[in-house]
Amino acid sequence: MTGSVKPVFLLFLIIIVSGVLGGFMAADRGRRVPLWCLLCALLPPLLLQLYFSRPLHEVEGIFRKCLKCGELIKWYALVCKYCKSKQSG
Ligand SMILES: [Zn+2]
Repeated sequence: MTGSVKPVFLLFLIIIVSGVLGGFMAADRGRRVPLWCLLCALLPPLLLQLYFSRPLHEVEGIFRKCLKCGELIKWYALVCKYCKSKQSG
């Protein structure tokens, strides 16, 4: 009965990979990592939702607030993509 082992292993692999990916993407977007790990492991399509979602708050080294309009932009962006103002520092 070796044939029944493989599908279970594949399912297990999908759950692990989805959970880990979800965790990394959640961290990038300033979201709760354990929650998104679990959600993505159980429902892999949520990875897409997470992928297209915007960050909730500043994440050091990844996202910061625009000095002028307050929108979240990339940490190293020189110009805000929302209001086009120059970012110093
Ligand atoms: Zn701005």
